[in-house]
Amino acid sequence: MSAYSRLTPEARGLGMTSQRARDRLIERLQADGIRDRRVLDVMRELPRHLFVEEALATRAYEDTALPIGQGQTISQPWVVARMSEALLEFGTPRRVLEIGTGSGYQAAVLAGLVEQVHTVERIEELLRNARRRFRKLGIANIRSKHDDGRLGWPEEAPFDAIVLTAAGAELETALLGQLAPDGVLVAPVGPAGRQELVRVRRDGDQRVREALCKVSFVPLLGGVL
Ligand code: SAH
Repeated sequence: MSAYSRLTPEARGLGMTSQRARDRLIERLQADGIRDRRVLDVMRELPRHLFVEEALATRAYEDTALPIGQGQTISQPWVVARMSEALLEFGTPRRVLEIGTGSGYQAAVLAGLVEQVHTVERIEELLRNARRRFRKLGIANIRSKHDDGRLGWPEEAPFDAIVLTAAGAELETALLGQLAPDGVLVAPVGPAGRQELVRVRRDGDQRVREALCKVSFVPLLGGVL
């Protein structure tokens, strides 16, 4: 059974928001180096047009970030795919924490790949919209909260994987502390224009830090709205 099998025909989309548009996006992601079958299969199913405003729905299957209000963006599909791939490369994590729910799209992709997703968003209105989308899609394995995600979710730690979808100047030590012993963290790090996607994982007693690629994310900010 597929991850989003409860979708109504309306939610699956018509015309420019159809399966064909999604298939083309997946071909493009593959051409651009995304290899993980599980990630590609989940993204082929998940209707990204439901994660943007209706006026932008026809652009939902372009490989580009789009505005979601409040000065924030839904991440570019290639970046969502690359981050998901990077999280899964050393084995499938069971419990994943995401910082920066935004539209909810990355969380929904992860929900199709792992057992349980926790996600934290600092802007209440965005979180409300994301929760509505999870309900509409029948996604039941995402827990979310309205908070400053730099603090993580200590009551639910440790996590097998942590992913940030907003860029800080450095890796947050509170978040590294909420990683399980063999956990992996993927995060954009650095100032606008000079960000890198960084992966940190444990190898024996050491933490190994690798830079995966250049990226462009909105900033990780303090406090809640
Ligand atoms: N994963 C999202 C990407 C949204 S953009 C998606 O798939 O659509 C990044 C999000 O991070 C924004 O919604 C922003 O409000 C949020 N954010 C920034 N700093 C944050 C923080 N300290 N805690 C929680 N969320 C944060």
